[in-house]
Amino acid sequence: MPRKKSNACDFCGRTEAQGAMLVPSPSGTANICVDCVSAISEFLGFTADEAAAAGRKKSGEKKASELKKLPKPREIKEFLDQYIIGQDSAKKYLSVAVYNHYKRLSQSADDDVDIEKSNIIMVGPTGTGKTLIARTIAKMLDVPFTIVDATVLTQAGYVGEDIESLLTRLLQVADYDVEKAERGIVFIDEIDKIARKGDNPSITRDVSGEGVQQGLLKLLEGSIVNVPPQGGRKHPEQRMIPVDTKNILFICGGAFDGIEQAIAHRLNSTFVGFSTDSRTRRVERERLISHVAPQDLKTFGLIPEIIGRLPVLTHLQPLDREALRRILTEPKNAIVRQYVKLFDMDGVKLTFEDDALDYIVDKAIEFKLGARGLRSIVETIMMEAMFDIPGKKAREFTVSREYAAGRLEEEHFDASAI
Ligand code: ADP
Repeated sequence: MPRKKSNACDFCGRTEAQGAMLVPSPSGTANICVDCVSAISEFLGFTADEAAAAGRKKSGEKKASELKKLPKPREIKEFLDQYIIGQDSAKKYLSVAVYNHYKRLSQSADDDVDIEKSNIIMVGPTGTGKTLIARTIAKMLDVPFTIVDATVLTQAGYVGEDIESLLTRLLQVADYDVEKAERGIVFIDEIDKIARKGDNPSITRDVSGEGVQQGLLKLLEGSIVNVPPQGGRKHPEQRMIPVDTKNILFICGGAFDGIEQAIAHRLNSTFVGFSTDSRTRRVERERLISHVAPQDLKTFGLIPEIIGRLPVLTHLQPLDREALRRILTEPKNAIVRQYVKLFDMDGVKLTFEDDALDYIVDKAIEFKLGARGLRSIVETIMMEAMFDIPGKKAREFTVSREYAAGRLEEEHFDASAI
């Protein structure tokens, strides 16, 4: 039986006669007075605020605990030392920049000091460890990582890939988990190849290079971009995934061939360049490259806006004979160690004689391959043994200088194929 409607507030009991302004329920069986409504909304408002504050506190605590877990710059550098020989300056710069980047991500939203993003640019000859450093950091932090080549990008309308497709790979390695991808690292290789040719834009205007730089700018500074999930060119029927690049760390690398001239010019010093012997040339190059500054990148043809979005500038040194020799055996996953492991799995003890290693380094230098060539040279030398040994009784295998030289000759090792 429906309840009889009273003329009192069903919450506080006050009647209209006592001054209560009553609001009937939709069913008409109950009343509530305006005072009770405002008391309740105040109560709800209060708890809503409290909930928000508690939520903020919780997310702050989560971020603080994430920060605690974040390896410190010194730890990042020590980790890098296990894999990368030399390049101390670059390793230090990157350790700090990466630490600051992830510290920035753990900042709470209501902090009044806004830490700016510290994208990185590394200048150094090819095969000296730029990609390896970026890859190793991403591995340590367990964040999605991808390498893209700046040269395949063109501005929309040109043949090639759209700038946004640069993030497609990142999405793919993050299993299309957008949030995860948004905290990842993108390594843009060969950034020097999209430089404008010459410092004077009005004379030698390289429209395509500059257009790509403009497009890249959008990603570097942090914006929401629509990424084609399958990459390639955008087409109207393709569904796009919006990705915020605000927290993606961009690390750019380039050889910037000839930048020494610009540095020398700026320092009012002379670059002895090509007239002297190769050792002097290398020492000279090392000396100059360690002075690289943003204005040299501008002279080289990067637009000032891009340079401004890559505030951390560091350099890598050319690798000398001693560094190459160490690269063969010292890093945690050094090439020689990998082969020893491969043979070990077949129960064979593999040894490289010292002069065989020296020979491999000599060949890498002779072919001007740097560290990049070491692997192919060793692979060529070991091919026959890897084919033969597993089925044989031998429990030991030693690579001598003679054996190494013989194998390279026999296999007609072709350095130009690398
Ligand atoms: P870059 O990006 O500078 O052109 P990479 O990082 O791709 O060069 O180097 C190519 C390969 O050479 C690496 O995979 C690694 O095996 C080796 N390498 C290069 N530099 C170093 C280094 N400093 N320490 C250890 N290995 C290196």
